[in-house]
Amino acid sequence: MAPGLNDVTVYLDHNATTPMAREALEAMLPFLEQRHGNPSSRHGRGRDARAAVDRAREQVAALVKVRPSQVIFTSGATEANNLALKGWSGGRPGARLAVGATEHPSVLSPALALRQHGCALGMLAVDSQGRIVSEALEEALAEGAGLVSVMLANNETGVIQDLRAISELAHERGALVHTDAAQAAGRIEVDFEACGADMMSLSAHKLSGPAGAGALVVGKTVDLEPLIHGGGQEHGLRAGTENVAAIVGFGAAAELALRRGRDAQVELRALRDYLELGLSRLPGAVIFASDAPRLPNTVFLALPGLEGETVVMLLDEDGIAVSSGSSCSSGATEPSHVLMAMGVEPEVARCAIRVSLGPGNTRADIDTLIAALEKHLYHQGAMPAGFLAAS
Ligand code: PMP
Repeated sequence: MAPGLNDVTVYLDHNATTPMAREALEAMLPFLEQRHGNPSSRHGRGRDARAAVDRAREQVAALVKVRPSQVIFTSGATEANNLALKGWSGGRPGARLAVGATEHPSVLSPALALRQHGCALGMLAVDSQGRIVSEALEEALAEGAGLVSVMLANNETGVIQDLRAISELAHERGALVHTDAAQAAGRIEVDFEACGADMMSLSAHKLSGPAGAGALVVGKTVDLEPLIHGGGQEHGLRAGTENVAAIVGFGAAAELALRRGRDAQVELRALRDYLELGLSRLPGAVIFASDAPRLPNTVFLALPGLEGETVVMLLDEDGIAVSSGSSCSSGATEPSHVLMAMGVEPEVARCAIRVSLGPGNTRADIDTLIAALEKHLYHQGAMPAGFLAAS
């Protein structure tokens, strides 16, 4: 174990990243050892690597029910989101975009950068449960938005958007739809055609694959400019020698997710319900977006009076890994932009803790978490004396 690293016995931060599935690791290893071809090479090693990438493309395509030719491999969902937004607006000077107010920074930041370069940008408001307000979408479309980007499931709250309704509205007005499905794929059923999107971002390390691989799924009618020019890989949309081992791991993880399917969802939901029952015993505990459809693995909560950042550190000492919100913006002291957009008071938002479950978690993990939270609440004076003994 690396010096300074706690022996994390209870990992409850799967929305930050997931442990890699053995199936993914085993699929990757040969490509990090003896099977080291470049997919563009004509010899046997090259053809072997090309075949492995093609197979992974089929596996990823099957997960979201598209044709393999629609899958463009990238380095992750951040790059896929950048490719969707910048690639679309690249050939359209003065284009107008609309993005959800609760999007991940890998959508918000390129959208803001595009605004600096002359694009018009609309932010789509959400309601108190984190769902896109349809009047806001209608207004953005009436103003001429040509691309709407709304995530399928939120990384902090787990809120699942009604993508089909959003896509229908956008398509009626001639706009395209991009969805960041990094947190949704592998956790709920994701059907590209059924949700009506024209582009979809995926990430391997959120579904038990390796970090450093992802994809943009592209519909038939979308015309994109590449971000990276070079040797013409990935249909000319993403040049650079493919990260064969990571792509192979992504494919294996996608196949596993498809195989686990609904059973995994049912198990996670049961565990989440158990967690929420435990939380209901803690005085003042608030679960954000509890009235909206949510991912089966995610609970975003606050224990008023206990700062989220403090709880994360205290739990870390207990050997429990959770997040105080979006891991990508942790370190920032600002309350979560997602909760702000939902109209949560900043003092409550600062207490936010995200618990995100994965296939390896058990009821014993949840019991450990709840006991630790009770202990910290008690020590902060937020729990009445005698509560610990009685509970
Ligand atoms: N979108 C969402 C919703 C995410 O949660 C993340 C990861 N935090 C990303 C995009 C970025 O994915 P990647 O790490 O693959 O770049």
